[in-house]
Amino acid sequence: MKKIVTALVCLFLSSCSPDSKTHNIDTIAEEYVRLVLQVGQYDSAVVDAYFGPEEWKPSEQKATVFPLETLVHSANDLYDKGTVLLESKNPNVNASRIEMLQKQLIALRTKVEMIGGKTYSFDEEAALLYDAEPPFYPLSYFDKLLDEMDQLLDGDGVLSSRYTTFMEQFIIPKDLLDSVFNVATAESRAITKQYLDLPTQENFVLEYVNDKVWSGYNYYQGDSQSLIQINTDFPIHIDRAIDLASHEGYPGHHIYMMLLDQNLVNTKGWMEYSVYPLFSPLSFISEGSANYGIDMVFPGEKRLAFERDVLFPIVGISKKKAQKFHKVQELKSKLKYAENEIARRYLNGVIGKEDAIGMIEKYLLFSPKKAIQRLNFIETNRSYVINYNLGRDQVANHMKLSGADSELPEKRWEIFKELLSNPYSSSTLKK
Ligand SMILES: [Zn+2]
Repeated sequence: MKKIVTALVCLFLSSCSPDSKTHNIDTIAEEYVRLVLQVGQYDSAVVDAYFGPEEWKPSEQKATVFPLETLVHSANDLYDKGTVLLESKNPNVNASRIEMLQKQLIALRTKVEMIGGKTYSFDEEAALLYDAEPPFYPLSYFDKLLDEMDQLLDGDGVLSSRYTTFMEQFIIPKDLLDSVFNVATAESRAITKQYLDLPTQENFVLEYVNDKVWSGYNYYQGDSQSLIQINTDFPIHIDRAIDLASHEGYPGHHIYMMLLDQNLVNTKGWMEYSVYPLFSPLSFISEGSANYGIDMVFPGEKRLAFERDVLFPIVGISKKKAQKFHKVQELKSKLKYAENEIARRYLNGVIGKEDAIGMIEKYLLFSPKKAIQRLNFIETNRSYVINYNLGRDQVANHMKLSGADSELPEKRWEIFKELLSNPYSSSTLKK
């Protein structure tokens, strides 16, 4: 309390000690950015993107011993400074801006603690890092879906191998990946451009990479430029073309980052958004809107038609296979929450590695090798998995409650743009 009173007094006096100097939200934002960049020295995955001033990057080499307590203290200190501002009753204080920054600070502190060796349960982590509450599903829910899949896929034997065999006819040969992705991306971009004003210089570079735990990644570079990487460790099926074009590109991560950059950093000068910490509430909206973005550009039957009439012919897949392919894909997408249940059990120590891999094969229909890759993703990114499924569904719900209607595309895109241009988190989405 004493600290708060001192700080309050300091808001009105210019003669405070340097230690308790006057803070406004912009100085807190700058300190926060510097802190995120400092934490990034110890874990390269922390800073997903940074497009702020070069001089805010740490000038010193990282310490030989991880400065856990100093970093936790700095995050707490900035959080408290935000609270002081909130309690100042100053009419110029933007409460929602501070509250969002405080959520980002809670996530940063949590990530620092985790780098320092602290473990949280799956659900604690989801709340602290992503401001989210993942639901619980009984496995029987997924078992019923697997029964339906069993009816759809021919042959005997384990369902996941039958699924893998079925999907083999939809693999994009490596020499055609570029053509397929270019066509899919051009379409996603053209549709997005119909509804959003994109800067003329906006662009992305596509790279093919190997040996990653993910299948695709967007690195926003600032100035409306992105580097999109696609992992070719495993065969890429034709449905991934639209997923990647829309999720990584238009109107997914590339557009989200561009709009945050334009609207929050450039226009409003909210510098806290010049850094994008991966393990933070922003990722819930980023992954959720990127997955929902697929439906923005390819709603309902449009996706089926585009894949069947445009993409299948490039690869030489018969159009007759489209209906069943979509039925299988639709059913498979209903299994997505199984990943949360597997990750929850595994990360909470309820099941071991072998069981987790077995469950990934069974419930996500992955091949044994791909299941190992997915477990590596879960081990690396932990409760991040909720951002793809729960994030998508909460964004969809927010859009619906905000009046989005697929019959009124202009209005729908307007609502989507508002969501991507402002600092939302899971708990501030309409529910
Ligand atoms: Zn993503």
